[in-house]
Amino acid sequence: MKLVSVCPKCGEPSSLGLCDQCRLEMATLLECPDRVEVTLCPVCGSHLIRGRWQDSQVPVEDLISDAVAEAIGLHKDLKDPEVDLSVKKRRATQYLVKVHLAGTFGELRAEEKCTVAATVRRATCDRCSRMAGNYYEAIVQVRGSAGAPASEELEESKKIAEAQTESCLERGDRLSFIQESKDVKGGINLVVGSTQQGRLIARAILERFGGSTQESYKLVGMRDGKKVYRTSILVRLPRLKAGDLIRARRSFLEVRGFEGKRTACTTLLNGNTVYLSEEDAEEALVVGNRSSAERAVVVAADRNVLEVLDPESYRTVSASRPGLLKAKPGDEVEFLRFRGDLILLPPRNKSGPS
Ligand SMILES: [Zn+2]
Ligand SMILES: [Zn+2]
Repeated sequence: MKLVSVCPKCGEPSSLGLCDQCRLEMATLLECPDRVEVTLCPVCGSHLIRGRWQDSQVPVEDLISDAVAEAIGLHKDLKDPEVDLSVKKRRATQYLVKVHLAGTFGELRAEEKCTVAATVRRATCDRCSRMAGNYYEAIVQVRGSAGAPASEELEESKKIAEAQTESCLERGDRLSFIQESKDVKGGINLVVGSTQQGRLIARAILERFGGSTQESYKLVGMRDGKKVYRTSILVRLPRLKAGDLIRARRSFLEVRGFEGKRTACTTLLNGNTVYLSEEDAEEALVVGNRSSAERAVVVAADRNVLEVLDPESYRTVSASRPGLLKAKPGDEVEFLRFRGDLILLPPRNKSGPS
């Protein structure tokens, strides 16, 4: 018996059952829904995808294209499919999307077209409605440890809070927003939408200034059958800050930064590293900060002493030379005043405070 390979439908030669032409005629290459819907928040522009709100500044036409691309189905045997979408606005919230599909089916070139209607729905997103409803989960309380912290530290803390809020939102924490930022006695209160965001803000402020944090929470009620807690995160800024010149352990030290509860300092005498405990840091005498240092010209120099011209009195004054200061006559050096003396500072560390 002789086997003849022909298409059972049209009788043309075909090695595997139905020929390409007959299969193509029977196949649905492109499956299209009649319509798709895109939901946008009119307040912030974020959009709803598969039940979740996402922050984006993408044009609405692109959102519609994405929704259609996701909703259409392509035949699994189509090779190298190319889908072309063109979005046209019909009315305020109505769009038409023309879909053109081309590809290779068996040995044949194939194409198909369809049109999908798209509707843009407007709904206030979860984040905007919580913000409007005064929702918050945590309060970050930034305070100075002794009296009021400098206003520049508070201003910087606010900036840190804004940056952290932005990055939390980018990472998908929809409740990351600052409900309120208010000045209170001794510091600021940052009222924030998410506890996680509040913790990250506190940590970032701590990394910048040192200090300590303390967290507490209380039950404030029920929401959708779940207990709702409100968290308070107290950030205590340290008394000392980077760049401070202090008198502690009978030497002059420059505060470099904070490592946990310890204050890392450099001795003026020889540039050695010294760590102060919390108690030592509390008791240290603050001479000043490098940011307010004055400048003087060196008149004469020897190993341990520099003579500089005091820019205020125009008199030549002798001052101890810090171990790391390699100045010669004519150079400018930085100094702070302390009890009638000039305290010369070593050159600025490139990685240190500027
Ligand atoms: Zn056939
Ligand atoms: Zn919104």
